Amino acid sequence: MIKPFVALPDQKIRSTSQEVRSFDQSLQSLAQDLIDTASAQTNPVALGLAAPQIGVFKKVFVARIRNKFKPFVNPKIVKLSKNTGSLMEGCFSVSGVYGSVTRPQEVTLEAFDIHGKKFTKTLKNLEAKIVQHELDHLDGILFIDHVESQNGKLFKVKQNKKGKEELVEIL
Ligand SMILES: [Zn+2]
Repeated sequence: MIKPFVALPDQKIRSTSQEVRSFDQSLQSLAQDLIDTASAQTNPVALGLAAPQIGVFKKVFVARIRNKFKPFVNPKIVKLSKNTGSLMEGCFSVSGVYGSVTRPQEVTLEAFDIHGKKFTKTLKNLEAKIVQHELDHLDGILFIDHVESQNGKLFKVKQNKKGKEELVEIL
């Protein structure tokens, strides 16, 4: 089911999510709701979505891996690369705002699937950035926090005179 987003200024998005303890029907429908809600986004498209963004404060997110939304339950980072890279990030919980965030380029995660089976996954580049962004949501952290701590700039989308969208710095 497609759900509405929890977004700033609603401070609930800052809550810390709880570990999933039972891999039951409610977890399966939560994962499906995340996939349905993420898949329904067209402008911009969603690359991932975390449970607190639809008002469920459990450690679950979905991330687009090889063009498919994959659920991660109780995810944990086990390894981060030393090399980093910057990417312009946005978030459905910080509507219309974008900013460049520097993060490790490669990450290894341990997580469970919705049936409770543990898996380990190493992801690179864009997919590595997606899972780090989504994992942050489970601790109430938003990409704008990283932009701020990295002394970066925030941008918003604005239509120019020709009706095309462009990014304009938020001062
Ligand atoms: Zn987000």
